[in-house]
Amino acid sequence: MNNYLKFWGVRGSHPTTYPGNLKTGGNTACVELVIENRMFILDAGTGIISLGNRLISEGTPRRLAIFLSHYHWDHIHGLPFFVPAYVAGWEIDFFGPGGNEGSLEQVIRAQMSAPYFPADIEEWRSRTNMFELNDSSLTYENTRITPFPVHHPGHTLGYKIEWDGKAILYVPDNEIEYSHNNALFKNADILIHDSQYFPSEYEQKRGWGHSTYEATVRSAIAADVKNLFLFHHDPNHSDSQLEEMMNSVESLKEKEGGQVNCQLAVEGLTVEI
Ligand SMILES: [Zn+2]
Ligand SMILES: [Zn+2]
Repeated sequence: MNNYLKFWGVRGSHPTTYPGNLKTGGNTACVELVIENRMFILDAGTGIISLGNRLISEGTPRRLAIFLSHYHWDHIHGLPFFVPAYVAGWEIDFFGPGGNEGSLEQVIRAQMSAPYFPADIEEWRSRTNMFELNDSSLTYENTRITPFPVHHPGHTLGYKIEWDGKAILYVPDNEIEYSHNNALFKNADILIHDSQYFPSEYEQKRGWGHSTYEATVRSAIAADVKNLFLFHHDPNHSDSQLEEMMNSVESLKEKEGGQVNCQLAVEGLTVEI
């Protein structure tokens, strides 16, 4: 398989180990994206731990890029346990938002400090480079990356990754009804998007920075997205509730006359792109 993406963590908020959730997966946000042998890692939730172990088992150190959407626990919680960072020969480019809460490096340093964690960032033997992002596009290897602000507490970014006429968007935390950047979704090949709530839950949680699956599906249809992955599942949603969600998506698509191919993001799922 040449270019692919793989979901290593699909939960929002916190990891879950409840038996009724594990078909969908219990680890928090992490997606591996491989484009022409370049490795991109989208967020460093607990899913990144198993990804790191796989990379180590492959043997040869390499260069990789980690793009962080923001610094809520569920997006960085796996980083202190990401083994390649501790091993000489690996080179890791970190990208993430800057802001009032501190620079990218300060934020990572703070997470790995006493009394929260026994090892600090000086224990890392890999070569690390930190790139703080604003809202302008950059070229990384053979891809064009456009970070953009989304509707979520603090400075939170979504990412549009383009190469060779293709576009993938990673938008893990976003209250889509209030977001101003949905135009970027237009004609996307793949959209990975927040779908944390059922509509019945949303009224209690409006303004918290997350979307209902309905609003996400409607926006994807309106933007002519080809493939939508519902992502950032609520930790309290069981496999059977998420199955129910997918059944409702099918009726919603029929009602709206939408063509989008919609799937649940499931831990371990690999998609050729
Ligand atoms: Zn989150
Ligand atoms: Zn968040």
